[in-house]
Amino acid sequence: MVYLTGAGPGSIDLLTIKALRVIREADVIIYDRLANPDILAEAKDGCEFIYVGKADSHHTLPQEEINETIYQAALKYENVVRLKGGDPLVFGRGGEEGLYLKERGVKFEFIPGVTSAIAVPEYAGIPVTHRGITVSFRVVTGHEAAKEKSQIPWENYKSDDTIVFLMGLHRLKFIVEKLLEIGKPKDFPIAVISKGTWPDEQTVIGTLEDIYERAKDLPTPALIVVGKVVELHEQLSWFEKKDR
Ligand code: SAH
Repeated sequence: MVYLTGAGPGSIDLLTIKALRVIREADVIIYDRLANPDILAEAKDGCEFIYVGKADSHHTLPQEEINETIYQAALKYENVVRLKGGDPLVFGRGGEEGLYLKERGVKFEFIPGVTSAIAVPEYAGIPVTHRGITVSFRVVTGHEAAKEKSQIPWENYKSDDTIVFLMGLHRLKFIVEKLLEIGKPKDFPIAVISKGTWPDEQTVIGTLEDIYERAKDLPTPALIVVGKVVELHEQLSWFEKKDR
């Protein structure tokens, strides 16, 4: 059995009970850079660890090789955990891994994880929806944003949806230019949150006009939140105010 498992956004406290259970029973754990390494300490003695280090979009192993690594582990061991940052199906390529296993007759289960797309803004005191401000939110890949033939329907983003860009810090300049191009005002609120839920989490608040200069050098992982909900950070910020 292969468990395609979400590790949550960073803090080990945000791991689910189900994920913890399969991690404790695992014969092998195949993990990413984004998964908190402290989680591995929960594994039983003799558990094998295989690092397939995917950080942002810089894959150290191509996806095809990761798929094959999981498959080979499944032939060898009874309990295989594939541990991925956040939720396995939110830009996690868990679906591809599931298909690869399915085609080869290997049983698998998905174990949802707390996605950074919601939890990281939440730790920064930014609700992705808020009555009277926005009725919906989008989660978008920033990686796709900078491609010449970007599949992102920018014109749809004129609405008041909250937009969360993952994998977008290196494309921040481009993203901001696009949002201004479709008519968002220069003083529209935007936040960049770096290392969300980790002790060194940092939030930088700005406008479409100044966020690039303010936030471009923040450490990764980082995500971008665009929308009026960003203004709630001032009052709702809680984690960054604690002794961490
Ligand atoms: N499956 C993951 C997302 C994978 S894409 C999930 O559900 O969270 C990787 C991107 O997620 C990073 O480039 C970054 O934009 C975002 N991310 C993941 N963990 C983060 C964290 N702790 N703080 C800020 N952004 C994070």
